[in-house]
Amino acid sequence: MTGIYISFPFCTQKCTYCHFASGVFPAEWIPEYLEAVAAEIRAATYPSTPDTLYLGGGTPSLISVPQLQRLLGALPVASWREATIEAAPGTVSLEKAQAWTEIGIRRVSLGVQSFVPGVAAAAGRKHTPESVARDVEILRQAGIHDINIDLLAGLAHQTEKTWRTSLDWTLRLDPSHVSVYMLDVDDESNLGRELQAGGTRFGAASVPSEDETTDFYLHAIRELASSSLPQYEISNFARPDRESQHNLKYWRMQPYIGFGVDAHSFDGARRWGNVCSVKEYLGHAHRGESVRAFTETLDERRLAEDRFITGLRQISGIDPASSEIRLFEEPLRRMFDRGWLDQSSGRLALTREGLLFSNEVFAEFLSS
Ligand code: SF4
Repeated sequence: MTGIYISFPFCTQKCTYCHFASGVFPAEWIPEYLEAVAAEIRAATYPSTPDTLYLGGGTPSLISVPQLQRLLGALPVASWREATIEAAPGTVSLEKAQAWTEIGIRRVSLGVQSFVPGVAAAAGRKHTPESVARDVEILRQAGIHDINIDLLAGLAHQTEKTWRTSLDWTLRLDPSHVSVYMLDVDDESNLGRELQAGGTRFGAASVPSEDETTDFYLHAIRELASSSLPQYEISNFARPDRESQHNLKYWRMQPYIGFGVDAHSFDGARRWGNVCSVKEYLGHAHRGESVRAFTETLDERRLAEDRFITGLRQISGIDPASSEIRLFEEPLRRMFDRGWLDQSSGRLALTREGLLFSNEVFAEFLSS
């Protein structure tokens, strides 16, 4: 079955750590953007029947109910095994949440990142733990019980104490799913750029060290596991049977089709992606041109690399074919020697230490 991803890149602020193709764009662009995405959806072909939907971005919880109904009306199916919408804290209302359930959206991912007001504010967010608790209460009142909370380790002003506070609040709110990310230090975000090039605007000087951030992540793994939220992917934790069915498709190389700015797709043999700029996307759509930025056909070698790189993100690992074991004989030996991969249970998986070096492990399969 195919997954559908829809990107809505509009936000009310640009968070310091954000490296997505999102931002603050004129509100007048929204109707045109949604119409362009609906047209892209109507023109698409699907490798198999879609059964999961993920509305990401950006802040798709800003889409009005009538706009959302029109957008989803363009899709070839109306009922979903799982349909998720990402929401920024403070953008949830009872009316909206009830409308989401009526159109089949019964899973909400709240981008909290930190429950500590000072840390959240430094990252560009205005919420408090009490306001997030209210959002969760509203969602439950509307009948939405599949709730994910996103946390981010490595933010400015984050300390062991504030990290513990965020985890405590997360567990108190009893979500069915938690995602824990570590800050990406690259030039795709304001904070990442400042960490590399220097400056004082985004709080780079008060970002915890790499070792501290790693400790936060390891602490989260322990705390969440002991609260019945075991880790099932590098950054993801879930109650039994509450894993994200949509995201599992990415890690299991199942097909997904993405629509909107910077959306990516995979049909089993080809990958393609859309342009990353909203202006460019709207320009192409307006002129009736393709919004696609690239398409690549994957040969057997690339498919095997992708199977390893995406599949090994899962804690349960992968069951490689003997041809893949032969293909990656050298890097596999190096990774076993370093203790970063293990196959003693039959499946090939990252070890606890390998989790911390996953990027190095994945690079081995690309460069071999
Ligand atoms: S982190 Fe989320 S809310 Fe903040 S700018 Fe990025 S997409 Fe928008």
